[in-house]
Amino acid sequence: MTDSQARPAFLRDAPLAFQRIREYAIFLLEPDGTVASWNEGAQVIKGYSDAEIIGQSFSRFYTPEDLLAGKPAEILSRASRDGRVEEEAWRLRKDGSRFWADVVVTALRDPDGTLRGFVKITRDLTARKLAEKALRQSEERMRLMIDSVRDYAIFMLDPTGRVASWNPGAERLKGYTAREIIGHSFERFYPEQELRAGKPRLELEIAAREGRFEEEGWRLRKDGSRFWANVVLSAVRDERGVLVGYAKVTRDLTERKRSEEAVIERARQQAAVAQLGLFALEHPDLDAVIDRAVTTVRETMGTELVGVLELSEDGKSLVLRAGCGLDVAAMGRVPIELDGVAEAGYTLSSAGPAHLDERRFRMGGFLDAHRGGSRVTALIRGSDRSREAFGVIEAHSRTERAFGEDAVNFLQSVANVIAAALERRSMEEQIRIAEQKAVEERARASQIREALRERDEFISVAAHELRTPLTALQLKLQTVERGLKMGTQKPAAGSSVEPRLEGALRQTERLSLLVERLLDVTRIAAGRLDLALETFDLAALVRQVADDFREPAARAGSELRLEGPQALQGCWDRLRLEQVLVNLLSNAVKYGAGRPISMRVERAGERIRIAVTDQGIGIAQADLPRIFTRFQRAAPLRNYGGLGLGLYIAKHIVEAHGGRLEVSSRPEHGSTFVVDLPIVAVRAAGPEQAAARVRA
Ligand code: ADP
Repeated sequence: MTDSQARPAFLRDAPLAFQRIREYAIFLLEPDGTVASWNEGAQVIKGYSDAEIIGQSFSRFYTPEDLLAGKPAEILSRASRDGRVEEEAWRLRKDGSRFWADVVVTALRDPDGTLRGFVKITRDLTARKLAEKALRQSEERMRLMIDSVRDYAIFMLDPTGRVASWNPGAERLKGYTAREIIGHSFERFYPEQELRAGKPRLELEIAAREGRFEEEGWRLRKDGSRFWANVVLSAVRDERGVLVGYAKVTRDLTERKRSEEAVIERARQQAAVAQLGLFALEHPDLDAVIDRAVTTVRETMGTELVGVLELSEDGKSLVLRAGCGLDVAAMGRVPIELDGVAEAGYTLSSAGPAHLDERRFRMGGFLDAHRGGSRVTALIRGSDRSREAFGVIEAHSRTERAFGEDAVNFLQSVANVIAAALERRSMEEQIRIAEQKAVEERARASQIREALRERDEFISVAAHELRTPLTALQLKLQTVERGLKMGTQKPAAGSSVEPRLEGALRQTERLSLLVERLLDVTRIAAGRLDLALETFDLAALVRQVADDFREPAARAGSELRLEGPQALQGCWDRLRLEQVLVNLLSNAVKYGAGRPISMRVERAGERIRIAVTDQGIGIAQADLPRIFTRFQRAAPLRNYGGLGLGLYIAKHIVEAHGGRLEVSSRPEHGSTFVVDLPIVAVRAAGPEQAAARVRA
């Protein structure tokens, strides 16, 4: 059979084009399935040349499985029955390899209906099939992957933002099951505020415009809780570029954000504590440090109420020492009793920082007015062993807040700075006391040295003072003795025992007076300068003393003038006042020799003033305060003798009467000593004793 003979008549003029088509195998089958024609496409796809295949059964294109199933015959019978069969299936090439074929078999009939054969058009879809398979596999893998991802919410949105797919990660993250959320708008993941700002829509717009949108922000879970999310939204377009939806990948970064924030917060807290420590170093004032600590806590922790409560000495109550947001009027005044339920009490007894969320604690006392919210309390250690705790510092937020470990540590650090400041203050106090003691010791040592010096000087002065009358006494007694011895034989001419004995007596009196003054000093030192009060005329006493001095004054070249009332009755110690007057006048004569001396007595109300004025050497301003003290002398000993006791004793006598002894003086111009006395001695040795001694 030649080619032209085999070819059916209706195909004879078939366009050459069919023959040349390479993408499709187009060939004819006899009614029994014998290959009757073969084009280039058939050769390319199936691998047989015309010669090899024409006249062969088309069944060789079928796989062994299809052959076993009788597929070739079935196809032909279906095509003959239905006119056309189309299928996609595996076929074999000449080399035995398989290809995925799209096959259309069409029955060819004569106009009278006689079956003449079949046209078979086969396309090699292996590449498409493989691509589809690869796609399917990759989709499957993708799906598996997406399903296995639990840390990311991966889901699709349709172009309007409705959830179109949902993975287990999304369920875990957001709390919705696929059934609950698919079909609902993704807007429900956004907090109210962001919704109002139109954020979800905006994000879709940006993703649609730019292909992608990424951000970090707060999102809501099904239960309403918030989480910090990293969100990537990608626009999904089909091959024609039409937006078919969005892929959204969301990750929960709450923990990361929290730890980032915690790091920042911790750094902020550490900086605040460092600054407070620096402040405490620079400011020794404890109150300033405590005030600063309160502000530091408020600003760093953001708590509205902060209080430093100091424990009382007996440890039974607390007092608000400093604070903010609390009742200022109560500060330092109102004690807060410590009992088991007050939180400060708990902190003090547990001796550690306390984060007291537990409702069973209250703040105690007037602080209970600030109920609610959350609190942290830390112990402020005491500065010494006797006081283990100074008190507590409390930070109180009006709103419910979970204070973390960092916040508690921070508050404890602030408390420690206060404790350090306390310790420093206590150490400074100890140093101050020690220094003061040292100063006092030094002062005492120098006082002792001075007293020793005074004593030595006094001994030499006293020896000198005592020697003068003693020498005189000795001389006089020797003369008397000599006289007496001679008198047994023959009294010396012109020598008489009597005046010498009188002289000796005077020296004895002078000696006993000196001894008496020394005893006075001892009495004053022992506080036993008793007054023997009596009522007498002071004016008369002054006159009498002045009279006694008129002669010695005249001898010293001084005229003695007296002015004053006739009589001045009062109650004093006569002998002691006489002693004072004698002392003042003898000083006036001694230091004002050659110049007039005046005495003036006057009464002013219930007081009496006696002024003794001389115009002598006067006293330097610097010496004025010390001339009234023991053994103090301002005049040179060489020119002016004296124990330096007169004014000391006089001042004590006057003061024992409730009076004052004062001096005004100008060097080279003279001095005025004024005795100012109450009419009735008021300060004698107690009123009863004084009254008892009054000799009316
Ligand atoms: P004294 O025995 O040394 O006179 P006083 O106690 O009476 O002791 O006086 C103390 C010192 O006061 C005297 O040493 C003298 O320097 C000074 N003084 C006292 N009275 C006068 C006075 N009228 N004029 C100048 N100096 C005086």
